[in-house]
Amino acid sequence: MNSSFIPTPVLGILDTLKTSGYQAHIVGGCVRDLFLGREPKDWDITTDAKPEKVLTLFPDSFYENDFGTVGVKVEPFHKDRRPDREHDVIEVTTYRTESSYSDRRRPDHVEFVTSLTEDLSRRDFTMNAVALEVRNQDSSSEEKSRPVDIVDPFHGQDDIRDRLIRTVGNPEQRFGEDALRMIRAIRLYAELREPGVENGKGWEIDESTVAAAKKHAGLLSHVSRERVRDEFSKIILSGSPSEGVELLRTTGLLSDIVPELEEGVGVGQNLHHTFTVYEHNLRALEHCPSRKLEVRLAALLHDIGKPKTKRGDGYRSTFYNHDHVGARMTRAILVRLRYPVAVIENVTMLVDNHLFYYNVGEVTEASVRRLIRRVGLENMKDLMDVRIADRLGSGVPKAKPYKLRHLEYMIDKVSKDPVSVKMLAVNGSDLIKELALAPGPKIGAILDVLLSEVIEDPIQNTREILLGRAKDLSNENLETLRERAKEVIEEKRDEDDKDIKNRHKVA
Ligand code: ATP
Ligand code: MG
Repeated sequence: MNSSFIPTPVLGILDTLKTSGYQAHIVGGCVRDLFLGREPKDWDITTDAKPEKVLTLFPDSFYENDFGTVGVKVEPFHKDRRPDREHDVIEVTTYRTESSYSDRRRPDHVEFVTSLTEDLSRRDFTMNAVALEVRNQDSSSEEKSRPVDIVDPFHGQDDIRDRLIRTVGNPEQRFGEDALRMIRAIRLYAELREPGVENGKGWEIDESTVAAAKKHAGLLSHVSRERVRDEFSKIILSGSPSEGVELLRTTGLLSDIVPELEEGVGVGQNLHHTFTVYEHNLRALEHCPSRKLEVRLAALLHDIGKPKTKRGDGYRSTFYNHDHVGARMTRAILVRLRYPVAVIENVTMLVDNHLFYYNVGEVTEASVRRLIRRVGLENMKDLMDVRIADRLGSGVPKAKPYKLRHLEYMIDKVSKDPVSVKMLAVNGSDLIKELALAPGPKIGAILDVLLSEVIEDPIQNTREILLGRAKDLSNENLETLRERAKEVIEEKRDEDDKDIKNRHKVA
């Protein structure tokens, strides 16, 4: 191996550390990725220089946490990141051991050490515990091809060659120290096990490592939800998400993360489905066409409400209301895992609306406008992706491209029509000025009624018509107005939903 694979900014940091009299190696996931011929996501450097020293050697750097990691800002060099970013960050971590984890969340204290081998021995998996040293510049050689020495005391290269994920040292002890490592093993498995990559499917987790995870799965409950969430999200976004979730289940870790998914194991469905609820959820995730976290979570959770709402058995069973029950469960799951509010709202909305009814020629423009009003125009693509995932996950050969294309066309067609109060030809101050109305909640309620009527018939969206209509409405009291807006929008929406239920017995 030579240094030609290593980006110049990384070489620069290594050289600065070494000319200042310190050791410096490249370590972690990027070394593993280099051996696999994959593009590293980020680059980590380990050194015997103390964090304070690293901070002074690199003026454009900052302390990242209490564990001795300093982020050094460098010229952008990653190809696949936002092109307009100001810098990339390379993490420089001081050799350390992590003493005991008495609360099982984080080490009691971090001890800096002087030996590279000791630092490598605290790392999670053998494939992540290989270090590279770039030899000093030899004046006779080209900058691009400096020799690289490999430091590999735990035989990580053998495991990389054999596609084996194995802990450094005794797995039971290592999982006992930090239970997050169990889910990290599965995350790396799901990420490395990439379909379409040479030997991608060959990855396995070493038997005794899996056995230790099964034995210690209960310890995951001690780990902070944020750390669990971040690894779980990476599994969901990986190339083999359903294999990852299935492995979480068989090791027993899923019971701590999303036990609700396990309620679907062995739960048969009706004539529309050949798979159990659990199998279908996994298949929907596997086939999800989107790479957005929200959409993938919605694909995985879209039928989470089915086990609780199942009535009857065999091919006649029904799952009325599973969309709304599932949305409530989804919210609770994501809140528990401390996802950001925006993610929670989005995924919940997608699960709540995943049964939207659409059939070419049957669905009116007004009902597409109502759907857009409920979901938001900006989320329609995501909702369609959930539908595609759902269909493909049912074992239906095609995602009915014609129907979805037609819906896209309809969305496009009505997308200029008013679907929100902002798009009405009048606004609140018009009503106050033109109709001499007092500012207050009644204005909002009148606008809601106007919108509900315009959604049914966009021709009415002119200033003249709406002002006339608003004048009549202003004689009604607030309650009546609110009722009326709700009636028009929600009752019609209910009719749309009833359609689905009658036709499909809620598939
Ligand atoms: P990625 O490609 O996602 O960056 P990675 O293997 O680099 O994967 P990071 O989370 O960036 O993973 O961690 C960097 C390195 O730090 C790992 O390769 C591993 O050596 C070590 N490491 C991270 N988390 C742990 C842990 N919980 N226990 C022990 N070592 C860890
Ligand atoms: Mg990394």
